[in-house]
Amino acid sequence: MFSKILIANRGEIALRVIRACRELGVKSVAVYSDADARAPHVREADEAVNIGPPPSAQSYLLGDLIIEVAKKHGAEAIHPGYGFLSEREWFARAVRDAGLVFVGPPAEAIAAMGSKTSARTLAVANGVPVVPGTTEALRDADAARAAAREFGYPVLLKAAAGGGGKGMRVVHSESALESSLDAARRESKNAFGDDAVYVEKYIDGPRHVEIQILADMHGRVLSLGERECSVQRRHQKMLEEAPSIAVTPHLRHEMGETAVRVARGAGYVNAGTCEFLLDRAGRYYFLEMNTRLQVEHPVTELVTGIDLVEWQLRIASGERLPFEAKDIIPRGWAIECRITSEDTANGFLPSTGRIDYIHLPSGPGVRWDGGIETGSEIGLHYDPMLAKLIVWARTRELAIERMHRALLELTIEGVETSRDFHLRLMEDAEFRSGNISIQWLERRLPSLTSVAPPPESARAAVIAAVLLADRDRNRGVSLRADGDMADSALKEESSQSASHGWKQLARSEGLR
Ligand code: ADP
Repeated sequence: MFSKILIANRGEIALRVIRACRELGVKSVAVYSDADARAPHVREADEAVNIGPPPSAQSYLLGDLIIEVAKKHGAEAIHPGYGFLSEREWFARAVRDAGLVFVGPPAEAIAAMGSKTSARTLAVANGVPVVPGTTEALRDADAARAAAREFGYPVLLKAAAGGGGKGMRVVHSESALESSLDAARRESKNAFGDDAVYVEKYIDGPRHVEIQILADMHGRVLSLGERECSVQRRHQKMLEEAPSIAVTPHLRHEMGETAVRVARGAGYVNAGTCEFLLDRAGRYYFLEMNTRLQVEHPVTELVTGIDLVEWQLRIASGERLPFEAKDIIPRGWAIECRITSEDTANGFLPSTGRIDYIHLPSGPGVRWDGGIETGSEIGLHYDPMLAKLIVWARTRELAIERMHRALLELTIEGVETSRDFHLRLMEDAEFRSGNISIQWLERRLPSLTSVAPPPESARAAVIAAVLLADRDRNRGVSLRADGDMADSALKEESSQSASHGWKQLARSEGLR
């Protein structure tokens, strides 16, 4: 095992890797931008190095500088987390060329999976079903028209270099094709510096089901089962589960074998994920392979008992995987909610500010993977995902109840978050039935994000509670009774409920 590694990331995932390092007795070096000087990952790492101003292009994306820092500080390996440099082939290569270990797949495997078109080509070559469509970028609008006619509308234009749902356009008829192609190209050029776009048949009503794999350097490639990620907004995941309600043991085995075949075909090593669309008839189609740790990896950890970050590090240091496919059987149910700094009641607008109060859920089966604390400044430089709340229980129903309970315990003051949205999701009958697809949330969104006006009696209590809370904050005392007899009764009520219920109501009333 390594004695020291550098973590080329920030936020919750940097902390997640630091935790794995500690448990393995590995020292960690954090890097940070000026905006993150007081971030938890900086404090928790054994060493921390400032690498530049807040914009990621001037800090977290400076691969060469980060490699220099790693060498100077005696780190033997670099863990890239997700996002930032994690899927840049050149970075994986530069780390290797510098005599360090990249905690991830070989640069060649990143390259093979780096573009959706080359990944599709590789999948087809390995006998893996892909979504009907082209495997080459479209030359022009005529080529797009011909392809769309062949596969039939609606079609999806997709950026070959795409990620995070960018550079994607659903096209319902030929009249909209050319303008959508231009838009997808522009968006892709801006986001990825590459305007290659191809066509896929737009599948109606599938689920997003992905398979986690682990591969060591000695030829063992294992599937750790599936995650269901169908709750999406604008092609971006908001909630993930393991296992999937739609996957039988037989299908799990089959999809797992398929993912292993893709990984072997790419010469894959370390943790990776094959994403599939699963249609109502149980047919599945390969979408792409993510050559890194996924945001949603904890749900797999909770149902398999396998620590993926620990195994990323063990594999990168040359260890063999000690388990076999037959040892990996999902146990119970795990759900993850992404807690983002977005105003879900107002079109998911990004919310910024200082976190002036945070209360974290705890108790049986609850895990919090976060990168925030009281005093954290939430700006616009980085991804709005602040944390992940993950629960485990014996069954899906119990996991939903547990998540609901944990979300009720969670209080974050200072920025708007997706907490309330997730609460309503847990209460939603359709979500609870599990009968959902990737298009479900967009249809359901209006009813999940509209806030019912509180009754008149509650309105007065809301105002009282908020005024009291503000007064106490100004005095610098907590919400607990402080001996002011005149309003102690009301204060008692506010102390019990202000931390979530009333304040949420107050906020929805526009009082804060
Ligand atoms: P990205 O890399 O940008 O995340 P993906 O290829 O992983 O792009 O697709 C993101 C999401 O978009 C999928 O999870 C799915 O919900 C939707 N999607 C992708 N391809 C199709 C398709 N052919 N038909 C319908 N939905 C699709």
